[in-house]
Amino acid sequence: MAENRPHRNTVAGRTPSGHRRPTPAAALTRSPELVDAACRGVDPELFFPERRTTGDRGEQMAAHDAKSICRTCPARTPCLVVSIARGEWEGIWGGHTPGERRALVRDAVALRHDVRATVQALEHGTRFPPRPGDFLAVVHELTILGWGSERIGHVLGLDPDTVVRARARAGAAAAVLAAMGPGYRSEPAAA
Ligand code: SF4
Repeated sequence: MAENRPHRNTVAGRTPSGHRRPTPAAALTRSPELVDAACRGVDPELFFPERRTTGDRGEQMAAHDAKSICRTCPARTPCLVVSIARGEWEGIWGGHTPGERRALVRDAVALRHDVRATVQALEHGTRFPPRPGDFLAVVHELTILGWGSERIGHVLGLDPDTVVRARARAGAAAAVLAAMGPGYRSEPAAA
């Protein structure tokens, strides 16, 4: 686990108004999955980089240390899911910045698009370019059918690297949807 590190312009573990700020793990429920959370005992300020930096690049650099801790955490998935379910749009949760969590939610919503007609047409060899908003769901459905990246790229007119990245995005969004359960009805969060 990373050592505690105080940061400029803040008192470690305190909000600007002086209140104790919990780490994401401590803010979560007492779920058994979160007992071994890697951020327990770590300076909470580490997980709220947006409050001590400006600009996307500064935030990404400040997020690096927190993300390093999250990568070792056995509670990474439940932490991410709980943060989305609770609408936590500040801080690093489950190894994701707020912007990355919003992107994940948008992808999860896109996966719910009904793309059966497009997929059936592609299965029957018909070139049927998906609408831009359906792209991720089509890639996901073809992946489930066992299509490889090259084959998907061929029918959609994409290079395989683009398909590989889309498959990774779709897989992460599908995992979040699966963990949320069938009742999850979130709309895409504002950018
Ligand atoms: S994933 Fe990161 S923020 Fe979440 S409980 Fe683990 S270490 Fe803490």
